[in-house]
This record gives sequence, structure tokens and C-alpha cells, in this order.
Amino acid sequence: MLPAPSTTTATAPTATSTVATLPPGQPLSGKVVGIDPGHNGQNYTDPSFLNRQVFNGRTMENCDTTGTQTDSGYTEAEFNFNVAQYLTADLQTEGARVVLTRSNNSGIGPCVNQRAQILNASGAAVAIDIHADGGPPTGRGFAILEPVADGPNNAVIATSETFGSDVRDSFLAITGMPLSTYDGTNGINFRSDLAGLNLTTVPKVLIECGNMQNATDAAMLTSTAFQQSSALALAVAITNFLRGRADRP
Ligand code: ZN
Repeated sequence: MLPAPSTTTATAPTATSTVATLPPGQPLSGKVVGIDPGHNGQNYTDPSFLNRQVFNGRTMENCDTTGTQTDSGYTEAEFNFNVAQYLTADLQTEGARVVLTRSNNSGIGPCVNQRAQILNASGAAVAIDIHADGGPPTGRGFAILEPVADGPNNAVIATSETFGSDVRDSFLAITGMPLSTYDGTNGINFRSDLAGLNLTTVPKVLIECGNMQNATDAAMLTSTAFQQSSALALAVAITNFLRGRADRP
């Protein structure tokens, strides 16, 4: 619901008052962007598929998981896919070509190592793994997970850190979701146990857009408005990263 019209002076601006729109024109013309919406809607139907062991760049791990969900049963897989669809539309409006690791939310997989391989082979200039967390119910907020050098990803560690800062800043300014109270430091966590980050050869981070186990976050994560806002924040971050921000240190 919109607030009632007011004739009083405007309140002080807040982080969420940022005028958030896509950059004009087609600044991403000629660019390829990779998107991995985590998990898949039917993963829960095939435990044997999920339990297949795949090499994640450091060790063996399960092919995939079911992902988390809210207490009311709204799945992370659906959230991830919805944001990916909105983000695809935004990026295409900006002129980019988008490569996704899955094209619907009604299937199984692919495995996490295959997701990395799809984006590595796509010609993408940058890529994002979209997730939402199943954290402690009292914990709030979003976190950016960034790669740690392990060989395959060595060439994209520094650029991934730059991109991660772009995503963190944009998501905080545009979506209204706070920085995580329990994951990482200032919204950033370095992870060496995730195939999507261990195996990447393109600049990439994983975003946990909020905590599905927290009631306040869940109310946001399940709303179309927040999902669209999340996509816009990611599109702005991707555009900033690919164009190079003038104010970047
Ligand atoms: Zn996930």
C-alpha cells in the first residue's frame, strides 16, 4: 500500500529512498552475463541425483541440494528463479546477452560443477549465483559470498572482489534488505567450499539475498516487489562493474 499523501515537508532520505532505475540506453550491448539461479524446483524428488559426488575444485561434494524454504513453504528455488527471470529482462533491456544455468523451475539440477562449467563456457564477462539462505531464525539480512584462490579461479579473484563490493553496495542501497547479522563481515564472506566459486573462470560472486528462516526477511523475499527490486539492484551492480565506476578505489 502507498502512504497517504502528505503536505508536510519530506522526511530525511534513507538508504531505500535511492531513485533506482536501469541506466539509460544499452550500456551492456555486446556483453554476455551469466546467471545461476540456485537449486531447482523438483530437486527434492530425486535424492540419488542430489547425492552424486562431484569435484568442486578442492574436494568432492553433493551434486546439488534442495535449497531452503520459508516456514510457510515458499521455496528458495522459486525465489532464485524469479529473481533470475527479472534480472534477465533487465539485462536484456540494457543490451546484454544472458546465459542461464536453468531455464525453468520445474526440473532437477544441473549439478553445481556443471553450473560453473556452463557459465565458464558462455563467454560471460561476469556472472552471479542467486540464492537465499536458511540461517538462524533470529538472523537477518543478505551476504555476498566471494571466491578464494584455488587454481582454476586464480585469475578472477581480484575482479570478483570488486564485483562483490558493487553487488553489496547496490543491494544495500536499492532493496531495503540489511547486511547480514550472522554471515560474514560487512556483508562479505569468503568461501572455499562452493563449486560455483571454486571452479569459476569468470568474475563471480554468490548472493544470499536474505534469510528465509527469519520472519521479517521471509515477508520481503516472498514479495514480487522485493524480487524485482533485487533484480534491479543486481542489474545496476553488473552494469557498474562492466562499465567501471568512476568512484571505485
Ligand atoms: Zn541456496
